[in-house]
Amino acid sequence: MLYLSTRGHPDRKHFCEILLEGLAPDGGLYLPERYPQVDATTLAKWRGLPYADLAFEVLSLYIDDIPADDLRAICRKTYTPEVFGSREIVPLRKLEEGVYLEALSNGPTLAFKDMAMQLLGNLFEYELARRGEELNILGATSGDTGSAAEYAMRGKKGVRVFMTSPEGRMSPFQQAQMFSLQDANIHNLAIEGVFDDCQDIVKAVSNDLAFKRKYRIGTVNSINWARLVAQVVYYFAGYFQATKGNDERVSFAVPSGNFGNICAGHVARMMGLPIAQLVLATNENDVLDEFFRTGVYRVRGSRDTYETSSPSMDISKASNFERFVFDLLERDGARLRYLFAEELAAKGQFTLSGDIARARTQYGFVSGRSTHADRVSTIRDTWQRFGTMIDTHTADGLKVARERLQPGVPMIVLETALPIKFAATIVEALGREPERPAKFAGIEDLPKRVTLLPADAAQVKQFIAAHCA
Ligand SMILES: *Cc1c(COP(=O)(O)O)cnc(C)c1O
Repeated sequence: MLYLSTRGHPDRKHFCEILLEGLAPDGGLYLPERYPQVDATTLAKWRGLPYADLAFEVLSLYIDDIPADDLRAICRKTYTPEVFGSREIVPLRKLEEGVYLEALSNGPTLAFKDMAMQLLGNLFEYELARRGEELNILGATSGDTGSAAEYAMRGKKGVRVFMTSPEGRMSPFQQAQMFSLQDANIHNLAIEGVFDDCQDIVKAVSNDLAFKRKYRIGTVNSINWARLVAQVVYYFAGYFQATKGNDERVSFAVPSGNFGNICAGHVARMMGLPIAQLVLATNENDVLDEFFRTGVYRVRGSRDTYETSSPSMDISKASNFERFVFDLLERDGARLRYLFAEELAAKGQFTLSGDIARARTQYGFVSGRSTHADRVSTIRDTWQRFGTMIDTHTADGLKVARERLQPGVPMIVLETALPIKFAATIVEALGREPERPAKFAGIEDLPKRVTLLPADAAQVKQFIAAHCA
């Protein structure tokens, strides 16, 4: 299996070559040359496999440069009941008739990003050891990504993490999760500024190519193909749990921000998984809902990007979206490059009026939007009727899912975080504190390991250099 860039670059690469890379050299995103097809016989064989072995089957269709035994061992080491809290790894829970929650948030940091990041940690360690190289991951986080990356990379050989976050802006629980890590290869950098300052620092450091090369700076952001393909697995796992036979169809509802999670659903559907609809849910930051309703993709400025109570979906543009547009344009790399590199760069928007109908008819995409009031009432209603506590992002997904139900087609809502991570809104909705998993009891009181730095790229570089000995 070879990978190409969405922007038409002629090079083709193997999986392990793109594993440690971000963007393709022409600024595009990597995608496989074609989607491997999974027929009914294969689905029948996969139904009933333990999650780790299902992950191996899916991944081995995309990875031909890691020996099968090694890849199977990596999958089995990653997806264990000890790390993910249950034998099913992603257990399905029924809400009302025809509506299910797929739990993706029982990993180490209680958000779905663990599903991919835990695998990435093991893949990085494997590949770096094979090459005899080291990698220093530099990132910016306002919450879920940073903690998922740190818990995936802690104690891994050959990897260090330098994670910037805006001082005092994360929820107390999220801060405690990250700052209580005592591993020598994990460095928390609290920056005196806002999230954009952290992102600017990461950009400035990465743009210093000499520094980047000398200190082997890399990233783990959501455009990484390995993260995306790891997420494809739980669409299959959800399908098998919700159906009895492989002639049945299901739909998925996905709380979306950077389009990584739902893009994995798109890949699963392209492989032949019988998915009727991919229901994309946004919060008040509705760039993607606007696109799927109107065909207009209009990125937002920071003044038009709202701070909401589902903060992991507060995006101004969706970094993985280019992958879907590439398929929607029937893989016309020249047209894709024109839209993203020219039109979007010049005007801040583009319109696909001639193609947008096919997003629904051919690719199954529909969308909807949810507000703070919707979240609060969905959380309250779900608690009162089913005794199930859901987080704010999952509430966005459930709200939009209900608008798109089709008779006889099970709707699987992806649970992307646990309520404990966003306690303030739970208290507002339910008048009580969210449930807290036992392993997180009292983490706010643990000693914290964090360095406070001004919003200055030079000082961050100094810190990295001093800790790369
Ligand atoms: C990251 C995140 C999302 C958004 O996922 P994308 O892949 O960026 O669309 C939704 N909910 C939670 C809790 C998240 O952490």
